[in-house]
Amino acid sequence: MRGTLLLLILLLTSACSKPAYEGPPILVIGMDGLEWSVMEKLLDQGELPHFAKLIQKGVGASISTHQPTYSPVLWTTMATGREKEAHGVPHFLPVDQGGRPIPGGLPYTSNTRRVPAIWNLAGDAGRKVTSVAWWVSWPAEVVEQGRVVASYAAQVQGNILWKAGVWEEGLPQLTYPESLQKSLTPLLADGTPQGPLRAEYDALFGTVPRKKGWAFPIQRDQLFRVSYHGDKTHYKIARQLLQEEVSDLNMVYFGLSDVAGHFYWRYREPGKFGYPVPLEHSKLMGGHIDQAYRVLDEWLGGLLEDVSEDTLVMVVSDHGMHASNLTKPKHPQSGGHEDSPDGVFILAGPGVQAQGLLTADARRVGDILDLTPTWLDFLGLPIGTAMKGHSLRALMTSAWQESHALLPRDADLGEGFRAATPALEPSTNANEQFLQGIKEMGYIGSD
Ligand SMILES: [Zn+2]
Repeated sequence: MRGTLLLLILLLTSACSKPAYEGPPILVIGMDGLEWSVMEKLLDQGELPHFAKLIQKGVGASISTHQPTYSPVLWTTMATGREKEAHGVPHFLPVDQGGRPIPGGLPYTSNTRRVPAIWNLAGDAGRKVTSVAWWVSWPAEVVEQGRVVASYAAQVQGNILWKAGVWEEGLPQLTYPESLQKSLTPLLADGTPQGPLRAEYDALFGTVPRKKGWAFPIQRDQLFRVSYHGDKTHYKIARQLLQEEVSDLNMVYFGLSDVAGHFYWRYREPGKFGYPVPLEHSKLMGGHIDQAYRVLDEWLGGLLEDVSEDTLVMVVSDHGMHASNLTKPKHPQSGGHEDSPDGVFILAGPGVQAQGLLTADARRVGDILDLTPTWLDFLGLPIGTAMKGHSLRALMTSAWQESHALLPRDADLGEGFRAATPALEPSTNANEQFLQGIKEMGYIGSD
């Protein structure tokens, strides 16, 4: 009895020490490899209405990024406010000194991460968090009052959606709470290779002819479909969750812009490349990058329908992109970002200074290390002393800044963290699928 009473007192004390969040809901939309030069052309043509509205009422800026520009590394830096040496995710999967994957090595998981992510930090502080498909968030961690749909997506889940049945038992530990998975099953089923998304993709991007001379585009098309099926599924999942309840912090990740950029730059701007690009190929695929951006604009619009007008909205990219491998006709990637070009950063909502699109020379307002500090600050929480970044609060009005004092740094934040969920190892077959996928992307050698 005394034990129960003590527990009750402890529970009450801990509940009291976590005052509820009273600010506007925050919606963070991650878009991989989003590039201003592509966006500006489409904005000028009036083809990105939802982005245009957001930039107009807020600010269109950019943020610097880090090396190497591998997605698991950067998106983990963004979600933790820590550099790779501290967060412990230096690549897609463990590699030897020559950069080759260590045999039997598995893609990095949430267990690899040595420091808390924003969903851990915010959840521990009593903020409600929803996270969909963020890199390296599988297995889904336990987040108090939170909802996590893990990301094996961007890695292996893409192949699962494409090659259904790789995981006969379904993807375990995909969600927290576990009960969430049941309600997502119909959406995941729609994302399978022969599901309804197939016709939708064909209508948006056309079909590649199965004939001689098209083997290379066919491969690109198959992988781009994987990305579309994965992203569209996550879009639908995010909308379903937002319609059920908008959390204090809501985050979702899409990879489409990056994959389109990698595969289709040579067809979009053939004149930039030092080899002939077949005209037929350019005709069919030259518009894929722009089309991917239009799709993302539509998804942005859809997500905005599910949150109130007074939501603080942020679109963030891990890096920009440009034409690359200019003299390599066989290289899988004709768009790249090895030199770490700045990523897109858009912020709009209550308290944000309306500045519109900043001029190119004044566009960089921060670094990917600043994102977690900014989210913490917006959520009324202290930033960790170990985080090198700063809150991007200078983008807010002076009235906002005066009424939202920056809290002192917390030296203990994130100390003693360890992932709460044990790793659940994928089958050998799933790992092979994953390896094949990232080889195709040109991230690792074919040997
Ligand atoms: Zn990329």
